[in-house]
This record gives sequence, structure tokens and C-alpha cells, in this order.
Amino acid sequence: LPEQEAFDIEYWLLEEAKLQRMPKPKSLAGRVALVTGGAGGIGSATAERYLREGACVVLADIDDAALSETAANLSSRYSADVVRVVNMDVTDECAVDRAFDKAANEFGGIDILVSNAGIASSAPVEETSLDMWNMNMNILSTGYFLVSRAAFKMMKVQKMGGAVVFVASKNGLAASPNASAYCTAKASEIHLARCLALEGAPEGIRVNVVNPDAVLKGSKIWSGDWLEERASTYGKDKQGLEDHYRERSMLKRSVLPEDIAEAAYFFASDLSAKSTGNIVNVDAGNVQAFTR
Ligand code: NAD
Repeated sequence: LPEQEAFDIEYWLLEEAKLQRMPKPKSLAGRVALVTGGAGGIGSATAERYLREGACVVLADIDDAALSETAANLSSRYSADVVRVVNMDVTDECAVDRAFDKAANEFGGIDILVSNAGIASSAPVEETSLDMWNMNMNILSTGYFLVSRAAFKMMKVQKMGGAVVFVASKNGLAASPNASAYCTAKASEIHLARCLALEGAPEGIRVNVVNPDAVLKGSKIWSGDWLEERASTYGKDKQGLEDHYRERSMLKRSVLPEDIAEAAYFFASDLSAKSTGNIVNVDAGNVQAFTR
């Protein structure tokens, strides 16, 4: 009997070794994702996460130079066959429709939309110009509406369901000082997602939201005038601001683009097949800590 037992164990160890060598099926194989703001920090990290799972990606952005750089980087690590770029301003209705048409021509349709293209602005309300207010509303609120509308049209024709992921912000749930235009626009994205989740459910189209807190690494937002304005709002320099954002969270850790990409992967994949209308904060515990 001990001999038989040893034989059995060896048998299962060999089986286990064979399984380890077998390529694992990729969970997004055969799916196509359009990522707005795909040339930016969170957008490109999300596109990369999807490529790792076998998806084809279309990076849509207004920044041509950053698009080329991101596409070259991703194509060299995966394959040029599964990466496309399109210049698309999310506030331009025709450009949005053209981008979706391009995705359909190149890859046959869209299964996943990541609405992520965005900006940040900071000013006390009495110094917020109408232009600044409208810019936030146009890019964030209206932009998220336009790309979702295009995705819904395509997904409903395809009749295969779909996943829409909004990258909003924890500032859409909680107030932040000197950022009323941004916070209001982000709150509207979150409510739009709830409404679209209800509309999309009968067709199997799921809509979920990922809310980052400050993502410093890789984000183009974290530069220039905005950064100076933010630092002065908190009475700190750049390093002091970074430290403040980390320290105010429960976990006292920085949020990275890859952390957002992981949540965006969950909501794009069948792992979340029973989730729609949900809002997940990837904020190291900032929102619930009620700190600013
Ligand atoms: P990022 O600046 O690195 O990327 C944003 C991308 O959006 C850029 O490539 C930019 O060219 C593109 N874009 C801007 N306006 C556009 C337009 N009109 N049409 C098409 N593309 C446009 O910033 P990020 O940190 O990757 O931000 C991604 C999203 O995450 C944004 O919606 C932002 O509001 C949100 N967010 C970011 C943070 C953060 O701290 N970085 C925190 C909360 C929420």
C-alpha cells in the first residue's frame, strides 16, 4: 500500500506539472476594448491589463504624440495586430462616431468601453470662469455621455451584451477644496453610469464605475499650473502635496495607474458578470476616512 500511495502522489505531481506548463486561457480573448484617454497614465495601464488578457485595444485620445508612443510601447510588448489608435476628441460628436466606426472596421465591433479621457482643474468658485466650468462639463460629463451613446448603439446592434467602465473620481462622491467644477462634472459621470446601468441591463450591457483618488505616477494631470494651484490650496509644495495625499488615506499608500487598471479589468471581464451600476473607490481608503 505505501508503494501504491507513493505512485499515486507521483502521478498527481506529474499531472500538476503538466497543467502548469499548459497555457492558461485568456479571459478577454476575442474581445475588443476602446479606451478613451488611452494615451494617458490610467488609460494606457488599463489597455495593457486588457492586452495581457488577450483583448484587442483601440486607444482613443486627442494627444497624437502620446498615442504613437503608447501604441509603439504596447505593440512591442504584445503585437501590433492587437493595438490601434484613433485621434478622437470626446467632446466632438462626429469624431466619437468615427472612432467607433474605425474600431468596428478594424476589429469587427466593441465589447468593452473604458470612458476615461479627462482633465483636472482647480480654482475657488469665485475665480472659476465660465470657460473653466464649461470645459469640465464638456470633457467629463458630455464626453462620457457621447462615448457611452456610441458604445450602446454598437453593442445593441451586436446583441452580445457589453461592459462599460467609467473612470470617474472619488471627488464625484466627496467634496474637494477649490474644485467645484471638476467635482460636479465627476458626480454627473457617476449618476450617468447608474442611469445607463438600468438602461443597458435588459441587453446585457453592464456599466460600472471606478473612482481613483490621487494617482500621481504616470498621470499627465499631475503637472503644470494645476499642480501648483493644488499645492497652494493645501499650503504645500509638490512633494508635500504627494505626502499629504498618501498620509490622509487609511492605508497610507499611493494609488498607481495599475491599481485602477485592475479594477477596470474586473468590471470588463466575466468576473463581474453579476455586477452593474456599482461604484468602486480605489483610493487607499480615502473616501471613508472623511479626510481632505
Ligand atoms: P492623464 O492626463 O495621464 O490622461 C488623460 C488622457 O485624456 C490624456 O492622454 C489626454 O490627452 C486625454 N484627453 C484629455 N482631454 C481629452 C479629450 N477632450 N478627448 C480625448 N482625450 C482627451 O490623466 P489620468 O490620471 O490617466 O486620468 C484619467 C482619468 O482619471 C480622468 O478622467 C481623470 O479625471 C481621472 N482621475 C485621475 C486622478 C489622478 O489623480 N490622476 C484622480 C481621480 C480621477
